[in-house]
Amino acid sequence: MSGFRVVCEFNKYNKLKGGSVMRKLSVCLILLFGFISNAYLQVDKDLKVFISVDMEGISGVVNWEDVSRDGKDYNLFRSIMTDETNAAIEGAFAGGAKEVTVRDSHGSARNILPNKLDKRVKLIRDWSGGVKGMMEGIDESFDAVIFIGYHAKAGTEDATLDHTMSSVKINDMSVNGVSLPEAGINALIAGYYDVPIAFVAGDMAICQQVKELFGEVGTVATKEGIGNAALCLHPEVAQNKIRDGVKKSLQNLNMYNSYKLKSPYTMVLKLFKEEWAHQASFYPGAKRTGDWECSYTTNNIMDIIKAFNWMH
Ligand SMILES: [Zn+2]
Repeated sequence: MSGFRVVCEFNKYNKLKGGSVMRKLSVCLILLFGFISNAYLQVDKDLKVFISVDMEGISGVVNWEDVSRDGKDYNLFRSIMTDETNAAIEGAFAGGAKEVTVRDSHGSARNILPNKLDKRVKLIRDWSGGVKGMMEGIDESFDAVIFIGYHAKAGTEDATLDHTMSSVKINDMSVNGVSLPEAGINALIAGYYDVPIAFVAGDMAICQQVKELFGEVGTVATKEGIGNAALCLHPEVAQNKIRDGVKKSLQNLNMYNSYKLKSPYTMVLKLFKEEWAHQASFYPGAKRTGDWECSYTTNNIMDIIKAFNWMH
């Protein structure tokens, strides 16, 4: 109201200028209203969030023993993995989530301690035998995906426990010439359902890789690789950053696009042994395209995921 009076007073002295100020003020008010209503809608919408949790990128983890059931420190790190997941869940609810599903996606898929997990969520454990793997449970009803404990693709310099799905078999997996880490493969599954990746936590190398792939995405680096060693944040410091980062990312969800490549899709899969490439070439539609290498082309991205699962 007081703003309107000032413009009217001004108008007495300079009609033209007053009109222009009035127009500018109106535009500002419209923009401000749009911003406030958009922010309100963003928080008010019943967000449904999917969290896929791997283990290699959890704070403090540096060695395969840390993430293997028979490793001496496995129980310590599955506990930290659970705490880090809880931090992401707290951030998700603080950022507007009304429903959260957690997918345990490392090794046996039975690592997160169910009795220590935030009671507001449901947890997907073990492998179904289907094609979604680390994204088991995702569908078009979700609004955002969060990756916790993720790691860089096989062969990445200064990365902690870098590999692509199988540390034993796979040298590289690319689609349409884009070499993908697990986060990229899983983002294509989410992209099939038009769900964007809003936030990724893991080592610094995977944070860089997802920014290169997705553009806008919230990230928190829990550690920085130094060859096989890593400079790690204290787990509680990492959890605080993840809680804040997830909240902020969900509050700015309209910044993120779902990850898609252009059809037709051509996957090139490079395996570590010739005999595995030979076997993979028998998948219907696959071709042997080089030493240790097979390729497969289709118009459906989920057929790429299916072929990838069966060819290694
Ligand atoms: Zn893993």
